Amino acid sequence: MSEPAIKPPSPPAIIRPDKDTFLAEENPFEAMMERFDHAAQLLNLDPGLYKVLRNPEKQIIVSVPVLRDSGELEVYTGYRVLYNTSRGPAKGGIRFDLNVTLEEVKALAAWMTWKCALVNIPFGGSKGGVVCDPSTMSMGELERVTRRYTASIIETLGPDSDVPAPDVNTNERVMAWIMDTYSMHHRHLVTSVVTGKPVEMGGSLGRREATGRGCMIVTREALGKLGMSLKGARVAVQGFGNVGSIAADLMAKEGAVIVGVSDKSGALYSAKGLDVPDLLKWVREHRQLAGYPQADAIAKDQLLTVECDVLVPAATENVITRKNAPQIKAKVICEGANGPTTAAADEILEKKGIFVIPDILANAGGVTVSYFEWVQDRGGYFWDEDTVNRRLESIMTRSFHEMMAMVEKHKVSTRIACYMLAVERVAAMHRLRGMYA
Ligand code: GLU
Repeated sequence: MSEPAIKPPSPPAIIRPDKDTFLAEENPFEAMMERFDHAAQLLNLDPGLYKVLRNPEKQIIVSVPVLRDSGELEVYTGYRVLYNTSRGPAKGGIRFDLNVTLEEVKALAAWMTWKCALVNIPFGGSKGGVVCDPSTMSMGELERVTRRYTASIIETLGPDSDVPAPDVNTNERVMAWIMDTYSMHHRHLVTSVVTGKPVEMGGSLGRREATGRGCMIVTREALGKLGMSLKGARVAVQGFGNVGSIAADLMAKEGAVIVGVSDKSGALYSAKGLDVPDLLKWVREHRQLAGYPQADAIAKDQLLTVECDVLVPAATENVITRKNAPQIKAKVICEGANGPTTAAADEILEKKGIFVIPDILANAGGVTVSYFEWVQDRGGYFWDEDTVNRRLESIMTRSFHEMMAMVEKHKVSTRIACYMLAVERVAAMHRLRGMYA
């Protein structure tokens, strides 16, 4: 047999160096399920409904062929999971990251379902991701990945069926391409197919800041419960992207002292407090925290265990584990990221008496203002920023106090209280609708 004319390219370097040692503790879907099971048991959930809610409605896997600037063709894997749509259109972000797996996207889609139910907005939950490294791509390559991925999942997208938003490594620019691709296929402009868009094209004022603002609001409420205040509270923030940087900025504006921040490039510490606007300027210019001259550099993993009142993990999953949880000194943890704490770590934090504001509440400000954006797009009537922020404030504080009422009534952790509220709301909808056969 002769040699094939085109030689297949050599396989890429191993994407997940930790794959072989992927611990059960770090499987995000298991982490979600463990809390769901606990809540379902306490709710005495009907066994049939239990089975329905343990399974995603739809899981889509697509190959996304993209022409690189070099002229080579690359094929990326993309996922979109619609976990549950009983309460409304599926809602959830799209991430571009090398660590994306189907298990992770399933967990994130389930978390979106519980999050939307917890803050009581009329959406189900979904999530999407493409396994790629956007930091190595040109703008043109990023646009082609976005458009081809959008076209591959276009049957499920739509204002009434599935509405994406930004997530890890995606932003307003990416949302604009998704909206354009969808609109071109439908031959008319459909702004409400995606949220987190630029304000000039139907985005909502306040959406960019919404997740960080939500973190600030619930942290203020939690500190109030402990007889403390944001004014003077020492805060450490892990992750300095859209969520972490804005949470730090807004908390500092309320008088908090930001003692530590970190991103992929490194961590900074200052006992007397960092100047957040100056840090934001540095990051705009240098695209990373490392090298910032006005603070001491510390090891990245030290950030989580520094002396502080509030710790805000605002990066990614599985950063607070059974290994480092015993060393955490914060009194309040505000989970800006999705799934930053493993189920094993939950127990340790509870024993230590740390007040955890669970992810599905702490970072729900983003999807809440996404809901406002969807409403504004569909009504064709846009609100001023003050109205957006006031309505966000009202939903976040109401949800916080509903969680506290559940904690007190059932003597459960804040996390299980949130799951109980959310799972019961989704289950109630299923009971009312009945099962279509
Ligand atoms: N990606 C964000 C989240 O995890 C926002 C989702 C949305 O606005 O739909 O909550």
